[in-house]
Amino acid sequence: MAMRYAALFALLCVCCLALPASAEWRERTEAIMGTRVYVELWTEDPKKGDEAIEAVMADMRRIDALMSHYKPESQLSQINAHAAQQPVQVDKELFDLIKLSTHYSQVTEGAFDITYASVGYLYDYPHHVHPTEAQIQAALPGVNWRNLIFDEPRHSIRFGRPGMRIDLGGIGKGYAVDRGISILQARGFQHALVTAGGDSRIIGDRMGRPWLVGIRDPNDATKVVTRIPLVNSAMSTSGDYERFFDENGVRYHHIIDPHTGHSASKVRSATILAPTATQTDGMSKTAFVLGPEKALEIINRMPEYDAIFVTPDGRILYSNGLRPPKPREAAQAHLAP
Ligand code: ADP
Ligand code: MG
Repeated sequence: MAMRYAALFALLCVCCLALPASAEWRERTEAIMGTRVYVELWTEDPKKGDEAIEAVMADMRRIDALMSHYKPESQLSQINAHAAQQPVQVDKELFDLIKLSTHYSQVTEGAFDITYASVGYLYDYPHHVHPTEAQIQAALPGVNWRNLIFDEPRHSIRFGRPGMRIDLGGIGKGYAVDRGISILQARGFQHALVTAGGDSRIIGDRMGRPWLVGIRDPNDATKVVTRIPLVNSAMSTSGDYERFFDENGVRYHHIIDPHTGHSASKVRSATILAPTATQTDGMSKTAFVLGPEKALEIINRMPEYDAIFVTPDGRILYSNGLRPPKPREAAQAHLAP
């Protein structure tokens, strides 16, 4: 017995020696890309932790300067200003993300379409401005991702017709989160969370337990409709309560149906889970446009993805991977009297 206690004591001492005294969580919040960016990580060296957080923030600022459609000097704004007249050469990174966006257009049957901006720019949510039906109809021909013309070797982009615009608001934050996670992984961090707006990605767990991420009630920011335990996963939530105004009983919000030019309202919120935040961001607009049934059909066909939708009548729908397993027949038989 004494031997066993001695061994346990020795083991505890080894563990104590191995555990650095100053290991702790470090976190920071900043406003970048027009949204809240949050980084949290577990570090044995707080100085190194803080330097890594700054590196993630700096990369987010760099991505914003390159891809923001609000900044006239960004390369993305150069595309919008000139690509209808001539090919516009951009950094390969931006070229690749625009090209990747068309992959999500294909997968979502056109629900995700960065050329939505050809009509989307007519909305100004903070100032309660929306276009008239005539303005929408005049702008809609500019919406079609198939009219983006790519020159791969030169990484230049041209618009196939006038009146086109693009905006990466629906995928850029997910991409930036993935970049942030790569930066942390390259520096050896094994437990971290990076969030930009509705897009998050987690590496590792939180003190031996999963991270618990809440999905808010679309009608009440202080309530959650469900909590999801996550380890090594990304998650994006899109909601009609993020950027919106109500007028005469109609909610004008920031997710636009590329086919109609109106706000897409077939769900109140959509949460997507997948390995990367670029994937989850690219898919989180689908259910708003196609409806929850069609979106679930698509998600259930894609093994890496799961989804949770809140419908306008308050139902919560889960993809197959999140449903509780059906009780096994044998177990039922065993329990039967
Ligand atoms: P967040 O900015 O919180 O990550 P979302 O991921 O829900 O928000 O993306 C919403 C943004 O996506 C809008 O503000 C707009 O920039 C862009 N967007 C809106 N409708 C579409 C669409 N049909 N296809 C692609 N992007 C869209
Ligand atoms: Mg997003």
